[in-house]
Amino acid sequence: MTEFEIIRRHFTRRTRTALLGVGDDAALLRPRTGSTLAVTTDMLLAGRHFFADAGAESLGHKSLAVNLTDLAAMGAVPRWALLSIALPKADERWLAAFSRGLFRLARRFGTELIGGDTTRGPLAISITAIGEVPEKLALRRDAARPGDDVWLSGATGEAALGLAHLRGRVTLRGNARARCLARLHAPEPRVALGRALLGVARSAIDVSDGLLADLGHVAAASRVAAELRWEDLPRARAIVECASAALARNCLLAGGDDYELVFTAPASARGKILAAGKRARVRVTRIGSILKGRPGVRVRDSRGREVSAPRAGFDHFA
Ligand code: ADP
Ligand code: MG
Repeated sequence: MTEFEIIRRHFTRRTRTALLGVGDDAALLRPRTGSTLAVTTDMLLAGRHFFADAGAESLGHKSLAVNLTDLAAMGAVPRWALLSIALPKADERWLAAFSRGLFRLARRFGTELIGGDTTRGPLAISITAIGEVPEKLALRRDAARPGDDVWLSGATGEAALGLAHLRGRVTLRGNARARCLARLHAPEPRVALGRALLGVARSAIDVSDGLLADLGHVAAASRVAAELRWEDLPRARAIVECASAALARNCLLAGGDDYELVFTAPASARGKILAAGKRARVRVTRIGSILKGRPGVRVRDSRGREVSAPRAGFDHFA
């Protein structure tokens, strides 16, 4: 199979919204009137972001999903994506499974693959996703204000617990195992929620590197402090039933790979936020507050004691 056969067989689909998709020197796009483009890119490397023998189909899903969650965190609706991929060899079955996983998620979210680059090399995947958000309404990291509530969609920790299981640090069984591995391999982008939060929430970020680390980015960009209430953090069953309390706490606060949204909003928006969660069919929980003070995130239990977090989240250079 040549490079061009790979592209034609596995990465070319007819586009409906792009004026021109795969096949020319560049794609041609026309954003809808009144909307701004939101553009994001993420790179996944074998051995660093996923195991080299990870299932191709879930890799296709996850490579796109991590980009769609970035768009969701801006309140943007995904529209187009570009895929740059380095492959050690032209493995027909691998490519078919990878593109199946990618296109299934793309179709669900109305995203068209409009171009990319294909080359031989150590397995690496980089996707650029382009979305649209109504002008001036994007949910940014720098807009949290003292007095805001801090909210979280879904719950954190399961993906990291799944990873801990794969690394042999804990043994999960039955439902807990299935659920944590699904959260790790097939994250669900919170696109509908992000969109429903436009004009309601003030700031948002997706939780990719751990709840504390990512909320820390909001605090830094907005120059505010964030305080979380330990008992109010939503906990999945696998976290509650985890044999190691320390591991469960680390996963909850600093695990990463959750791809939930953490966002802030004034107290007056509580009703609207609950309604947005209902519309988007995802649980939203009020987990803390934004305060004046030195940027940072603290977690306190109901007796006022600080709950220590293991580390500042996932740092690729650590
Ligand atoms: P160029 O030499 O102009 O960079 P390429 O030969 O790299 O063009 O690519 C040919 C066409 O196929 C382009 O439209 C490019 O965007 C598209 N393409 C290449 N690789 C991929 C891929 N992995 N997924 C989707 N489109 C791709
Ligand atoms: Mg090229």
